[in-house]
Amino acid sequence: MSALAKAVPASGPRIGGGASAPRADASGAAAGGVLTIDLSALRANYRLLRQRVGGAAVAGVVKANAYGLGAERVAPALWDEGCRTFFVAHLGEALALRPVLPADAEIFVLNGLAPGDERLCADARVRPVLNALDQVRAWGAEGRRRGGRLPAAIQVDSGMSRLGLAADEVESLVRDPSRLAGVETVLVMSHLACADDPDHPANAAQLAAFRAMEAKLPAARRSLANSAGLFLGPDFRFDLARPGVALYGGAPTGGAANPMRPVVRLDGRVIQTREVPAGAGIGYGFTRVADGPMRLATLGLGYADGWPRALSNRLAGFVAGRRLPVVGRVSMDSLILDASALPAGALKGGDLIELIGPSQSLDAVAEAAGTISYEILTSLGHRYERRYLC
Ligand SMILES: *Cc1c(COP(=O)(O)O)cnc(C)c1O
Repeated sequence: MSALAKAVPASGPRIGGGASAPRADASGAAAGGVLTIDLSALRANYRLLRQRVGGAAVAGVVKANAYGLGAERVAPALWDEGCRTFFVAHLGEALALRPVLPADAEIFVLNGLAPGDERLCADARVRPVLNALDQVRAWGAEGRRRGGRLPAAIQVDSGMSRLGLAADEVESLVRDPSRLAGVETVLVMSHLACADDPDHPANAAQLAAFRAMEAKLPAARRSLANSAGLFLGPDFRFDLARPGVALYGGAPTGGAANPMRPVVRLDGRVIQTREVPAGAGIGYGFTRVADGPMRLATLGLGYADGWPRALSNRLAGFVAGRRLPVVGRVSMDSLILDASALPAGALKGGDLIELIGPSQSLDAVAEAAGTISYEILTSLGHRYERRYLC
């Protein structure tokens, strides 16, 4: 059993669980792995980002269930650090988050206002990010129907071509300000496409485009930077930063040292050990054949749990300072480690083996899988036992 698992008994008083645990919690020892989420590291990361931006406010981006880590635990922890503004992707996520946070928490929906959602959104005091003129019109109509104005963010497209008003659409609001009737603009924002590459010329171009567009819109807070954008320097800070992945320990900037504290640890559970002779085929397709007698340990998690199949025959599990390489293909619900480095009997069913943690970082896992930390985090799935360190 790993040192961390020893330090954190499932019944410990400071561990998550009970009424506020995520719905999909797997049942304790029956799960194929343990996902440990360090909320004090999350909070430290929030404080570090706030330091970075000087006087600007720092929001928490908690879309996709806080990148898979559990929005109902993550968002209140950020609130305790002084975070007052939260971003999710969908109205459904906002509605789920609303009762978890104090009433004056500000919740924005990044993907905008879907037709027909106006009433539900306004009733829940959720603020849409208006990404198109028809959304501005619909939100304004709802505001006027209620005899006033309803708060919203307006997003402009400064060059990513994904979401937000184009320059000519911003012009149309300038020419005819009545188009904003019923809308209280509380935030003007845009999103950077290449912020994780500080030398990319798109950063300066998007900054200039954002400045030109925001200057034409009503006075309100301005927001441009995501995690990586926040490390591009003071010009990118504006009034509100919108970090996601850096809060969760992912490296904000590619190639540079990661200043964030790790938040996630994943341990796989041993479900079987065996000795195989030279020549034994290992796993689907026999992509690995034992070149001598080998000691193997099978862990109870696989690609259905977010451990990518692309990591077949790649990376390792770690226990007691030993590196146990992954051998053969990653299966849907299991993977196999070469435990030959350990003496016979050292591992037994139920033991926990580090897959993400001090020996193998989240970013290292993402890189080996040919993806980004965001995708690993959001794929981690719902079958693990979850432990929250407070
Ligand atoms: C997801 C998202 C963020 C957070 O991005 P990170 O790179 O995780 O910090 C910020 N703003 C918008 C518009 C987003 O979609």
